[in-house]
Amino acid sequence: MSQQDLQKTGFHIEGIRKQFPVLRESAYGHPLAYFDNAATTQKPQVVIDAINLYYSTYNANIHRGVHYLSQKASQAYDNVRTGVATFINASSDKEIIFTRGTTESINLVASTFGKKFLKQGDEIIITAMEHHSNIVPWQIACESSGATLKVIPMNDSGELDLASLNSLITNRTKLISVVHTSNSLGTVNPIAELIRIAKQFNIPVMIDAAQAMVHEIIDVQKLDCDFLAFSGHKMLGPTGIGVLYGKSEWLEKLPPYQGGGEMISSVSFEKTTYNEIPFKFEAGTPNIAGVIGLGAAIDYINDLDRELIHQHEMALLKYATTQLKNIPGLRIIGESTNKEAVISFVIEGLNALDVGMYLDTKGIAVRTGHHCTEPVMARFGIPGTIRASFLFYNTTEEIDRLVKGIHEAKKLLGS
Ligand code: PMP
Repeated sequence: MSQQDLQKTGFHIEGIRKQFPVLRESAYGHPLAYFDNAATTQKPQVVIDAINLYYSTYNANIHRGVHYLSQKASQAYDNVRTGVATFINASSDKEIIFTRGTTESINLVASTFGKKFLKQGDEIIITAMEHHSNIVPWQIACESSGATLKVIPMNDSGELDLASLNSLITNRTKLISVVHTSNSLGTVNPIAELIRIAKQFNIPVMIDAAQAMVHEIIDVQKLDCDFLAFSGHKMLGPTGIGVLYGKSEWLEKLPPYQGGGEMISSVSFEKTTYNEIPFKFEAGTPNIAGVIGLGAAIDYINDLDRELIHQHEMALLKYATTQLKNIPGLRIIGESTNKEAVISFVIEGLNALDVGMYLDTKGIAVRTGHHCTEPVMARFGIPGTIRASFLFYNTTEEIDRLVKGIHEAKKLLGS
């Protein structure tokens, strides 16, 4: 669908852009073109206002105070837990644990599941396109338990070889942890199909949904995943807050992750008993402002026409892919038929960092490097890529500036 056709449907890009104050900024005298959304998204004014309102009118610690402010803050915090549960269709608020982000959510599961269920000779399966945060925690868990890590390979287009899953699964497979949407390739993995296969063998599945939440509607009950992790800052919310969803039957079985206040039922020097879920996993004063900001981000997303937003992002992906492919020497890394609006590319004879730095001087923000997916880079035999990742507030005019900037960089940097 063209931008004009989208306008006719009621999607008004200028109105949307006005809600994101950072998008009015300029960089080195140029209007900012922000294409680093896979690293973190910009925040709408409503999210900034919600955090501001908390700190300026009802800042208090939660759950242990009888006073007015504490009750107001506790209510706001608890409401967001309900909002998150509804957003991903969890069957209960108890299945929502607030963490620092996707990284901490995965570490929580790898550490506690590892302690309780992993033994010498057991196996964990991940994929060839995981972010380091869905590799290293499992390596640590394997190291301390004697389990081994197995990897589902991918093809040259950056698509998982799901057919190999059946041969990787054995009676020692204890869990499969897989990224929903690759941050460096854009690939959207066939998660539902993967879970269907895993369930035939009764193997629990964890989903890294860091890149999925803002783009896709996620229904954990429909997916039937056992754990799902995501970060607030990649879905219009603040940094330092994230979510671990876990089926309550799993969360009941797992030991605590950290010890401290809130996660206990009673403490004595002889014996400590733990709080019920989800509090068992939320030791210490949480990121209250972060939770409130995440709640505002979810409200904002819920108010969007998500189908239209997705169509716009797909139109941006298609437009940018066509334009970039016309540039001689440019090669796109990750050409799955099912992608989110992320384009990773290399340019023959040019260093990715040099290109990124040149684009920056024109106010165009891209990311360069391995994007915390070194095994993906190794699979494609490259040190890194230039990555442009789009969100619904991006425009085709901004993509035109990106394309122009790359042509200039090629001339200047000698490709
Ligand atoms: N998984 C994926 C696919 C990601 O893109 C990221 C962030 N780049 C993470 C995990 C880690 O997220 P966070 O840094 O917010 O914990």
